[in-house]
Amino acid sequence: MKLYSTRNQDLDAGLHEALLGSMPPDGGLYMPSAIPSLGKEKMEWMRGKSFPENASTVLGALLGDAVDPGSLKTMVAEAFDFPVSLVELEAHQHVLELFHGPSLAFKDFGARFMSRLMQNYRRDDPGEIRDLVATSGDTGGAVAQGFSDLPGIQVTILFPSGKVSPLQRRQMTTASANIRVLEVDGNFDDCQLLARQAFGDQLLNRRIRLCSANSINIARLIAQTCYYFQAWASMEDPSRELYISVPSGNFGNLTAGLIARRMGLPVRRFIASTNINDVVPAYLSSGHYETRESLQTISSAMDVGAPSNFERMMDLFRGDLKQIREVVEGYRFTDDQTRGAIRDLYTRYGYIACPHTAVAWLGLRQYISGYRPGNFNGIFLGTAHPAKFPEVYDNDIRDRITLPSRVNGTLEKPEKFHRIAADYARLRHILMEHSS
Ligand SMILES: *Cc1c(COP(=O)(O)O)cnc(C)c1O
Repeated sequence: MKLYSTRNQDLDAGLHEALLGSMPPDGGLYMPSAIPSLGKEKMEWMRGKSFPENASTVLGALLGDAVDPGSLKTMVAEAFDFPVSLVELEAHQHVLELFHGPSLAFKDFGARFMSRLMQNYRRDDPGEIRDLVATSGDTGGAVAQGFSDLPGIQVTILFPSGKVSPLQRRQMTTASANIRVLEVDGNFDDCQLLARQAFGDQLLNRRIRLCSANSINIARLIAQTCYYFQAWASMEDPSRELYISVPSGNFGNLTAGLIARRMGLPVRRFIASTNINDVVPAYLSSGHYETRESLQTISSAMDVGAPSNFERMMDLFRGDLKQIREVVEGYRFTDDQTRGAIRDLYTRYGYIACPHTAVAWLGLRQYISGYRPGNFNGIFLGTAHPAKFPEVYDNDIRDRITLPSRVNGTLEKPEKFHRIAADYARLRHILMEHSS
């Protein structure tokens, strides 16, 4: 597998370099140089197969010679050791539940696969790796759980003080000794700025091998292509036109879906569903892309004003707005609409959705009522378990949410984290500690 930079088509990097370097030196983002098509035979083979079987097929094609088939199989078995389930709520309308992993959010797929990929490369190149990640909530938990107890990898997580739920915090602060958690006096933008300063600090990067576990890292997106295929392969009648609504913030998930489509997944349209942080839907309707400060909403994991993967989406379509519009439709929803959707999903189907998932459902419904497609399958992605966001629900619904037993450990263990000012010098000092 070879990769180029969204800012330089001639850059020729290997997966190892893209994984550990996170970002090309020119400040762009890595993209696969060739996106292979799976072909009819492989697609047919996937029908009714297990998730690990299908993930190995998809990743085998995408990664090519970058990972040997035996190691890939082991990595997939370890990383994806929890189910992906497609639940039909009414005829031909499904939710793809991606929250059955250890951190209760879809970010487990990317984080767990990325950690195994790093382990795999450490066999030949055993130096210590330091992962740095800024989180608004869900990424931190997924990374802490996914990298827990992995030898030779030290993880530092930055989270904004007071902005993550107690469960989200515990998922980070109760992980193993190689996970260091810093509560930053500031908001998510401050955390992200600190991380960016560290990645841009050449002197620091000469001393330690610093790597990003945020969705700028292509490894996360590669892992996420797999469940799109799994959704298709588990559908009763896959010959119907397929529409997939993706609740979006940094647009890593949607970009992974676009890559899956390039690989031959027959998706007629993706629906980019956002909260009021709607720079991408606004771009799709006006043709102008303008980033903004993010606004706080109840679907907090999507409170992003400058989506990092927009550059990748543009790259996939060579910046051609007309082409993007053929494949991606965007909608935005307010918190009131999201609350209404949570209520509707509950009264109609007895289904309790997290606020992000509810936004995805709204997007799918708006698409269907606007375009009235005939013979279709609709999927909206269920990105987190509702138990992660208890504060969002009215009492009657909240009382019916049960916390999955797999998080019991995080509730019992003592927490371990430090509070720091949003000050780069301080972070730098901490990152340098114990480096030889
Ligand atoms: C991160 C996250 C999103 C947004 O995903 P992107 O890939 O950043 O667009 C949506 N829902 C939940 C629950 C998340 O944690």
